Amino acid sequence: MANKKNVYFFGKGKADGDSKMKLILGGKGANLAEMTNLGIPVPPGFTISTDVCAAYYENKNSYPKGIKEEVEAGLKKLEGVMKKKLGDPDDPLLVSVRSGAAVSMPGMMDTILNLGMSDKAVKGLADKTGNPRFAWDAYRRLIQMYGDVVMGVKHEYFEEAIGEIKKSKKIELDTDLDAADLEKLVGQYKQIVKKYTGKEFPQSPLDQLWGAINAVFGSWMNERAIKYRQINEIKGLKGTAVNIQSMVFGNFGDDSGTGVCFSRDPSTGINEFYGEYLMNAQGEDVVAGIRTPERISTLEKKNPVIYKQLVDIKNRLEKYFTDMQDMEFTVQQGELFILQTRNGKRAGTAAVKCAVDMVAEGLIDKDTAILRVTPGHLDQLLHPMIDTDAQKQVKALTRGLNASPGAATGRIVFNAKDAEAWHGRGEKVLLVRKETSPEDIGGMVVSQGILTSTGGMTSHAAVVARGMGTPCVAGAKSVLVQNDSTVEIGGKMYKEGDWITIDGSSGEVYEGKLPLVAPAISKDMNTFLKWCDDVRAKSVRGRIKGFDVRTNADQPDDAKRAFDFGAQGIGLCRTEHMFFDKEKLIHFRAMIVSDSENERKEQLKKILPLQQKDFFGIFKAMDGRPVTIRLLDPPLHEFVPHTKEDIAELAGHLNMDITKLSLKIGTLIESNPMLGHRGCRLAVTYPEIYDMQVEAIARAAVECAKLKIPVHPEIMIPIVITARELKLLRPNAEKILDKIFNEAGVKVPVTIGTMIEVPRAAIRAGHIASYADFFSFGTNDLTQMTFAFSRDDVASFLPIYLQKNVLDVDPFKTIDEEGVGNLINYGISEGRNVKPDLKIGICGEHGGDPATIDFCFRAGLSYVSCSPFRVPLARLAGAQAVINNTGKNIKGGESGKTIPATATVIGSKIPVKGDKKMAVTSAKKPAAKKPAAKKPAVKKTAAVKKPAVKKATAVKKTATKKVAAKKPAVKKTAAAKKPAVKKTAAKKPAAKKPAAKKTV
Ligand code: PEP
Ligand code: MG
Repeated sequence: MANKKNVYFFGKGKADGDSKMKLILGGKGANLAEMTNLGIPVPPGFTISTDVCAAYYENKNSYPKGIKEEVEAGLKKLEGVMKKKLGDPDDPLLVSVRSGAAVSMPGMMDTILNLGMSDKAVKGLADKTGNPRFAWDAYRRLIQMYGDVVMGVKHEYFEEAIGEIKKSKKIELDTDLDAADLEKLVGQYKQIVKKYTGKEFPQSPLDQLWGAINAVFGSWMNERAIKYRQINEIKGLKGTAVNIQSMVFGNFGDDSGTGVCFSRDPSTGINEFYGEYLMNAQGEDVVAGIRTPERISTLEKKNPVIYKQLVDIKNRLEKYFTDMQDMEFTVQQGELFILQTRNGKRAGTAAVKCAVDMVAEGLIDKDTAILRVTPGHLDQLLHPMIDTDAQKQVKALTRGLNASPGAATGRIVFNAKDAEAWHGRGEKVLLVRKETSPEDIGGMVVSQGILTSTGGMTSHAAVVARGMGTPCVAGAKSVLVQNDSTVEIGGKMYKEGDWITIDGSSGEVYEGKLPLVAPAISKDMNTFLKWCDDVRAKSVRGRIKGFDVRTNADQPDDAKRAFDFGAQGIGLCRTEHMFFDKEKLIHFRAMIVSDSENERKEQLKKILPLQQKDFFGIFKAMDGRPVTIRLLDPPLHEFVPHTKEDIAELAGHLNMDITKLSLKIGTLIESNPMLGHRGCRLAVTYPEIYDMQVEAIARAAVECAKLKIPVHPEIMIPIVITARELKLLRPNAEKILDKIFNEAGVKVPVTIGTMIEVPRAAIRAGHIASYADFFSFGTNDLTQMTFAFSRDDVASFLPIYLQKNVLDVDPFKTIDEEGVGNLINYGISEGRNVKPDLKIGICGEHGGDPATIDFCFRAGLSYVSCSPFRVPLARLAGAQAVINNTGKNIKGGESGKTIPATATVIGSKIPVKGDKKMAVTSAKKPAAKKPAAKKPAVKKTAAVKKPAVKKATAVKKTATKKVAAKKPAVKKTAAAKKPAVKKTAAKKPAAKKPAAKKTV
């Protein structure tokens, strides 16, 4: 530390640093240095580097050797330039001490102004300036700020004192206090400090200086700053710098003032000078809002000379930094000083407008424009938002997970049925529940927003809400629903019908009906997103060309919306959502509780035309773009009726005894449904379910083809763990496709692929690829199963994991690159070793997360798929990934032709040692080894089946009858399947070809 430069001077047209040194000097320090070098009037000063902040914390809040001397040498230099001494009793130099990290964190850390004032200096300053009012005002400001920030005296004690004086004099404004008032106030302030700290206000300027420096470094770790960094995901910074700068005074009199301005309007992006100022004031007066600042445009009339200088400087700075600038300025007795410039924070609309305009103006190129707009900016543009003025007036009741963006306001209802009933009466409702389940879908659809007290980012409520574009706050722990009739939110009680408002973008919950403002989708946004599409389309990684954005959609309306938002296809159509449709549900329920294959087939026959209609609608909406339809995935018990009324309705429909039906339903309940009878396991036991779905797909495709509607279906099989599941199921699907297309005399290309969402599937991806035309990583389940974190129950412990830094991010939101990402990389390389052009996507919720999208690009995925409302954001994030990774030699998941038994992927290892079959896929001699691999495969099937039967037997004693009924079904299926396995196996070489593309 001692040999390193820690203090950087700026002043008199020359600075030690420049704007490229933000990591060391912080944003403010680096730009003060740059402006000094540019000859812009900046009060001289020096910056203590962020390295000192890091060392301060490493040394348990003390400074390494040499820092004190270096800072005091900086001060000497400043005193030399200013020809004044800090706190000099005759003519004091006063300084400001301000924070400034590499990433701007407005208002989060501390600032002290007028440092150097003391009982003696105040008199010197009064004499020297001939302005005692100004001198006493500066002193009282110092005591107030220093007392609060450094000595910990509550701000309101000072405010009470100043309020008393103003009251006694019957005045409203601080500026109406005269010198005598302020002198009196200084006396009172000093007593306040003594009373609450037991200490005198420090009179030594150096003591003041170190007190302030300590406070600013200390503020890096205050609660506010830590939270701000967490929320904004600001990581990897060393700390804050400290800027010590000679003061200029906007409170010198009526020819002085201070203000904040932007080179363009930060709300709209319109290229007009924007800002406000106050005469005879210091910066904190503008922020405090005691006096209403004037619009910057009025300065043109009041002080045209200063206005012109300011306009010239903002033009220069904007051109120099090629971005919209946010500047602070002070005028002291008619002389203009710039105290800060930084790239301005802007609203979503402004971000897009500035980016598009600046390209047209030749200020920046398209790539730069793309990097300037954040995914968060776009998100703002696509959802209603709470009116910011209204939001400022209220305090949030509580905060949960920002599960689905946008704001919603509605009357509280506690269950889906009530939601539908209230909605039917024309009411706007907000569904408040502990958690939601598939049965709630009807109520969710009609709700303005959803609030749950449990569940994480991929809980049912979160996933469905995002899919529907409905705002949702999930896992809000202080929302306590009581008996479906009242709810406590943040300690206050609410009942059905009370209005609340949620902000799904921030996770906040508010009392009452806050006004919402509609998003505007502009022409600029379209232009901008087309640039993003171009960048992605032109990207090349090895053999993989382009990087597409698809959507997760199960309804024609969603598909249409996503298409309008620019989706290039559907990456996931969850067919189970279709079954919750009232018309289908009763038949589906009847099918589940059927005891025989024939009965099941009878019920499925009734669903078939309805499913066909769904698929037709989606194909039509996507107009020839690929549509990946996932066959049924969730455990059957999710569909069975739970309420007495529903059970009675089904019993009536089936003409069945209610008790018998209830017992049957009981047998379907599983202890661990996520690991139970779901996904393709359903089709292994009940092939007729997938058969019906494939037939509906084929028939819908035929319908489209006959109407000359282009159609591109992709059939996806979920929860696969082994190639043998596909070996079993794929031929069934192919047979049905062949049959329907042959009967219709129509040829539609259909591919059959699989989801990789179980760790075993990722590890066995090479084998699986032989039977799949494409892969799609289902990262919700892959994360759940890799972490062994139930996706519906993480809310009880994940926040603490994040708080205690056990995990950096919610792995259900951003892909865990070290673990899940490692499996994905491995799966891709295994899959593409077998099929170099294998199309691979992602369809878990991570597909709409910008950091994950960057990973997906690096990993070599062909596309990401996300909910419709996230499509524009993914178009942008995908383009940013392309630009940010340009030149990094990304190969598109090609790992070379051999994979070692222990594979190394992103620096860590997946132990696959001893897995002989792994070597079969990776080695170049598959032909020789394949038969060997098959033997144990057959044996294993038998072995696997046994415990399955046992488990069924063990389910419940009361269920013996049903288990008995089930047993033959299992056996029968197994028996029926055996020849099928053999047949497929015999066909293997032939099966591989159509795997590349099934054209019928
Ligand atoms: C997944 O697991 O990532 C996935 C997309 O499937 P689902 O969320 O429907 O389980
Ligand atoms: Mg899944």
